[in-house]
Amino acid sequence: MQQFSFHTHTIFSDGKNSAEEMLNQAVKLGWSEIGISDHLIIHENITASPSWCRWQKEPHIFWNNFEKIYDYFARNCEYIRKISDNYPLKIRLGAEVDFFPYGGWIEKFIKIRERLELDYCISGNHYLILDDQYHNLLDIKDVDKIDSNQQVKAIRRHLKTLCLAAQSGLFEFIAHIDYMRKIDIFTDPQFDEDKKEVIEFFAHNDITTEISTKGLRKNGVFYPCLPMLKQLVDNRVKLVISDDAHRVEELGYQFDYAEKTLQELNCVNRWSFVDK
Ligand SMILES: [Zn+2]
Ligand SMILES: [Zn+2]
Repeated sequence: MQQFSFHTHTIFSDGKNSAEEMLNQAVKLGWSEIGISDHLIIHENITASPSWCRWQKEPHIFWNNFEKIYDYFARNCEYIRKISDNYPLKIRLGAEVDFFPYGGWIEKFIKIRERLELDYCISGNHYLILDDQYHNLLDIKDVDKIDSNQQVKAIRRHLKTLCLAAQSGLFEFIAHIDYMRKIDIFTDPQFDEDKKEVIEFFAHNDITTEISTKGLRKNGVFYPCLPMLKQLVDNRVKLVISDDAHRVEELGYQFDYAEKTLQELNCVNRWSFVDK
């Protein structure tokens, strides 16, 4: 069974436990390795979002200034590196990053990623993008603020963004590819072709994605759902099991069930961390 998770959060972003508590639990589970991937959400126009009133309550998660988020992340990185020696497992420092390819974002992101000396990044896209220039974002809790036509466009843009994130080469894997199923119309067959294109893009470009047990915790279905998972395996897309743990008891959550599911689907292409 997979004995690690690279998709985990601590109180530094929206997790409920400290890094120490998460690391202690990983040791208890007998893991030899763990990656900590707190949220890195930086968009210079974020305060113009119709959802800003929601996000501004969490100023340590939603940022509009690259220098400031660098300072915040750097302090945490330094802290985790300092405590790492106390644990008998390999600790990798990462981030779960919302990918916003508006002009200049990628270059600025690469700079802070390098300065932070992160071991890895995963792409986790959580917001609707309201325009092709990626200037305006919306929290999916505010999806009712846009009409159904705009919702369709935003979902298509989101699925395209997953491919752009993958293509950027900045991410070790792409998280929760059907995250937008939180919006009712995401399951509509009109998006089947768009989803298929994402999976084929991943297949042709050797992109890794996750099977996340967070979906099981939330509504009894993996991220991604079984039909997408089956398509991923059939296309031989590389997979990693994630728990997207936000608290200690979520580390390794239902990994045995995820393993069993991958076996039943005859998945042979599995991801593991490779030092660069
Ligand atoms: Zn996420
Ligand atoms: Zn996450």
